[in-house]
Amino acid sequence: MQANGIETLRLLKELRELTANAEGAQRVAWTDTWLQARRWFESKLEGLPVEHHYDAAGNHWVTLQGRSEKCLILGSHLDSVPNGGWLDGALGVLAGFAVLRRVIDESVGPPPVTIRLVDWADEEGARFGRSLFGSSAFAGTASIESDRSRTDSHGVRLEDALKKCGVDIDFIGEATHERRDAAAYLELHIEQGPILERLALPLAVVLGTKGVERHAVTFRGEEAHSGSTPMGARRDALAPAAKLALEIRPIASKHPDAVCTMGSVKTFPGIVTAVVGRCETALDQRDLDAEVLASMLKEAREASERFALEENCAVEWSRIWSIEPVPFHPALIELCEQALEEVAGVSYRMPSGPLHDAAEVARAGIPTVMLFVQSLRGISHNKIENTKEDHIALAVQALDRLATKTMAWIGRQ
Ligand SMILES: [Zn+2]
Repeated sequence: MQANGIETLRLLKELRELTANAEGAQRVAWTDTWLQARRWFESKLEGLPVEHHYDAAGNHWVTLQGRSEKCLILGSHLDSVPNGGWLDGALGVLAGFAVLRRVIDESVGPPPVTIRLVDWADEEGARFGRSLFGSSAFAGTASIESDRSRTDSHGVRLEDALKKCGVDIDFIGEATHERRDAAAYLELHIEQGPILERLALPLAVVLGTKGVERHAVTFRGEEAHSGSTPMGARRDALAPAAKLALEIRPIASKHPDAVCTMGSVKTFPGIVTAVVGRCETALDQRDLDAEVLASMLKEAREASERFALEENCAVEWSRIWSIEPVPFHPALIELCEQALEEVAGVSYRMPSGPLHDAAEVARAGIPTVMLFVQSLRGISHNKIENTKEDHIALAVQALDRLATKTMAWIGRQ
């Protein structure tokens, strides 16, 4: 017996019918449409031999008690961005549901390990700018004081929006209780990027989520008149910035999955009749390997100093934000690879650029792995987000196969 991917597709379409409009999915966390999606999902649990409840951070847990207390957790998120896609998050929850149904349907007694399905609260952070809300409360990495007074675009406070949905921000830390007996976490998600489509592959094993180093890099020269200042006498702050913008390509391309982006360049005074006196840039660097990330940062910094010297300018760096890479569990990566080979005849390993709830679960020390299914044109967070139906069915089968392997792995621990 295998999980029913056709039924998953039917449910995904039913959810889309219920919670999307002409602009796309509208299941923004802490809104009525999101609550409607969650009630719809609750209705699918009727008559099944499961317990379900919402934890202190609003994560929805469905538990099928096994012979062992040790749990296999499957999950993702039902919330979406405004005008979002039909698959981002919802696929992972409903595919996990298909696996749960398969285990219930085929077993005469309880399964060997307890299986839990989780719908994380507010993965997207679309309304209050706080991504991974529920999973970070679960992981114990949430910061209540800095989140309490966040407001949405209408001035509604996060604390008040939570209260309307039955969540008291002062108690979200109690969501860590759900970590009890957690032995492994699996999440299926759409890739949200173009790599698998380019390689003509349906599925990939996700090695982890990339770390990020994001810095403001400011070059200082001297403002001078564009007409009267000879070329040799200039201290043009745009020049070293321009050199750095090109230098980050060879810095990144030494590593197969690394990316470096200079996404913002501002010149001051910013008029064509003056040599640039100050150039403010921002640099974003990402990789799955902390050492690679650190060495790319060092190289970019040294290059910026060299270019500043060449152009008779000064440079300063200040960190805007950083997060460390979160590698997934080696044994589960192996099992996932086997599962993909069995159902699709081929497997591929790749890191995730975007963060996911799985990263928070892994940070909590729970063995974790994700699998990606191809996204058409790599587009997500948009109403045209899509994946081929046969790939969705294959992804459900792969998750199912991986769940079976992981249950056996948990039994051996
Ligand atoms: Zn997502």
